[in-house]
Amino acid sequence: MTPLGRKLAAEIAERGPIGVDRYMEACVAAYYAGRDPFGRGGDFTTAPEISQMFGEIIGLWMADLWDRAGRPARVNLVELGPGRGTLMADLLRAARALPAFADAIRVHFVETSPALRAAQAQRVPTAEWHNDLAEVPHGAPLLVVANEFFDALPIRQEVRIDNEWHERRVDASGDTFVFTPEGDAIRETAPARAEYASALAARIAAEGGAALIIDYGYEGPAEGDSLQAMAAHAAADPLAAPGEHDLTAHVDFTALAEAARAAGAHVSPLALQGPFLLALGIEARAERLSRGLDPEARHAIAGAMRRLTLPQTMGSLFKVLAFTHKDWPQPAGFSA
Ligand code: SAH
Repeated sequence: MTPLGRKLAAEIAERGPIGVDRYMEACVAAYYAGRDPFGRGGDFTTAPEISQMFGEIIGLWMADLWDRAGRPARVNLVELGPGRGTLMADLLRAARALPAFADAIRVHFVETSPALRAAQAQRVPTAEWHNDLAEVPHGAPLLVVANEFFDALPIRQEVRIDNEWHERRVDASGDTFVFTPEGDAIRETAPARAEYASALAARIAAEGGAALIIDYGYEGPAEGDSLQAMAAHAAADPLAAPGEHDLTAHVDFTALAEAARAAGAHVSPLALQGPFLLALGIEARAERLSRGLDPEARHAIAGAMRRLTLPQTMGSLFKVLAFTHKDWPQPAGFSA
């Protein structure tokens, strides 16, 4: 058993089976605390690690919105779960094209993992770090980006037995963990995600600004079990080796939108990542980056663009949603 596995087994022996949310939260925290899991030699690859174009496009999206909002003198630029800090480094480089915007922003990282904070400090030494959004200083509009952050926040699951829904929990059985009880259907809720979306929207409603949320997700409600583990770029058993695999679950964007609206923010239509990036000019950016490069390098840029935008890769599985202050302009990239 892993160290976390022993800890959870002891907790279960003492107090009984634990909720899927408790299990997932403990696994995610232990997993990220001590490692940098991104890229080819790691467990999975995210959009900013595929190409610099991803962070650059998000920088343009923010600079454009800031410009049309009347160029506020100070902006808190916040990233939730910044991973290696790659997205922000690319975003800041693109932001320099609009020097007044680059001067207005202060970078805040919301990150709980000590190992990843160290990686982020190498790429963005000017950032300030926080454990929670609530610690980000008040008094200026916010521009927030969260890529593959909400999918790491815990979900709860329920199982249907004889037409009644019961909480699905994790029990220990010898050296292994098992789900209990068993039923004929599964559905998911995510109070922790709704709470985070609500806090984010409330901050934006109070101080101005916008948030851009990108994640693997769907328009709920939907039935099904989306809890998944990834190790070395392949699916793994979520109950095996707690804390050693990346655990995620698909994001119900309808639930996030409802929570944000209830907290007073304007919510955009849901966009697919492919059309969003294309609307913001990823093709022109790829062309510009390719100028003067050898065929192999050009081929790599074109391949990265296809991976980010095509429906059969990340273009449709990943969705994009924006929350904005009601008096801020409509963000680019979302068709009504
Ligand atoms: N956005 C990055 C990383 C995504 S992985 C990218 O696209 O590459 C998820 C990130 O969220 C990691 O940085 C992880 O440490 C962080 N994280 C997970 N749960 C968190 C929490 N509750 N609070 C703050 N950060 C968290």
